[in-house]
Amino acid sequence: MGRTLIHGAVVVPVLDDSYHKEGYLIIEGTRIAEVGAGTYAGSTDGFDTVIDAKGKLAMPGLINTHGHASMTLLRGYADDLPLQQWLEERCWPIEAKMTDEDIYWGAQLAILEMLKGGTTTFTDMFYFMDRVAQAVEESGIRAVLSRGMVGFDPENGQKLKEQAVQFVQDWHGKADGRVNVMFGPHAEYTCPKHYLVQAAQVATEYKRPIQIHLSETVKEVQDCIERYGKTPVALFEEVGLFNNPTIVAHAVHVTDEDIAILKKYDVRIAHNPDSNLKLGSGVAPALKFLEAGLTVGLGTDGAASNNNLDMFEELRMAAMLHKGVNIDPVAINAFTAVQMATNNGAKALFLEDTLGTLQAGALADIILLDIEQPHFYPKRHNMIAHLAYSSNSHDVTDVFVNGKQLVKDRQVLTMDEKRVYAEIESICERLYAE
Ligand SMILES: [Zn+2]
Repeated sequence: MGRTLIHGAVVVPVLDDSYHKEGYLIIEGTRIAEVGAGTYAGSTDGFDTVIDAKGKLAMPGLINTHGHASMTLLRGYADDLPLQQWLEERCWPIEAKMTDEDIYWGAQLAILEMLKGGTTTFTDMFYFMDRVAQAVEESGIRAVLSRGMVGFDPENGQKLKEQAVQFVQDWHGKADGRVNVMFGPHAEYTCPKHYLVQAAQVATEYKRPIQIHLSETVKEVQDCIERYGKTPVALFEEVGLFNNPTIVAHAVHVTDEDIAILKKYDVRIAHNPDSNLKLGSGVAPALKFLEAGLTVGLGTDGAASNNNLDMFEELRMAAMLHKGVNIDPVAINAFTAVQMATNNGAKALFLEDTLGTLQAGALADIILLDIEQPHFYPKRHNMIAHLAYSSNSHDVTDVFVNGKQLVKDRQVLTMDEKRVYAEIESICERLYAE
């Protein structure tokens, strides 16, 4: 079991809004054994690795609670379009051409970007998920994965359900526990009612949580009310979806009654401010969610609707956006935004027992930021405010997941960066051939 000492850093455990101006961390195997304040005074004998992290800030790795990793292949191809046209005329025709090999390299590109930007856990709902899981296993990152389930056509719906079950059986808990699997019925508008009932039942049977898109657009909610006489939230309650642990992505257009239902079942929320803004979907009432006591994590969504996978940007956006929308400068403060990107993200994914904070016993998913840069001065003021309002993903220098160093001095140790770029260019030449 490897032992690593990281000392001399500013340490932000994200347990409360305090932090250590100087502190140290001890990693043993896959977990954090000790977090201490001040200069490390013990012997450095017995450590396999000792990292002098003076001039760095240590914090929990960021947790991306919603996305579609392989949509990196669509980045920059479909922008500034109405949502339906964006989806039906641009995304779906290209996605239909993607092979499992394309999905694998698309996921590699996403993982490369996320690791370099300090994301240590990501969430994905897509297809050919075995290949995404393979990319997770090889790269060393942690992920929550679902085989997306769409149920228009009964025969196909049945097949997807079987694939989703198979994926849970094949991959849940694999890659040294770094792969977590959920069930992923796609959304109300792609899953008829009877199919949602089945998805709820299968999740109960296999004891895995559910992730699903919810009330992203006005049209989605209106269509659902026309179809069933109720909102998507009320429908999901009726079909028994919320009897399972559930995380919903977006929840932009929800009523107060919807929020009360979400609270009743302790449904977790993936808030994707950049994606909702770029697609012109609106702004989710995240402040209301927090006031209702709901758990809110942050997500980037896929690279076609963001277009980066930069969780520091989401963090800053969450801290800024709701002040502006609510005309309230104290809405969602810096610490709350940092929590949303770390331990509340873990809680949103039902992983809070082990992830999202720096404390003894937690899994060692840790990032280091270079704070010897102008935008981190003056240091005597609040470093958590610096994290929320002035840091960015390029500050990340080192990343550890499950106790293993994956990024060192901005280089991803477990991936061949140049190879990923070459594969992506060659794949896109084929996907986008006239
Ligand atoms: Zn999505």
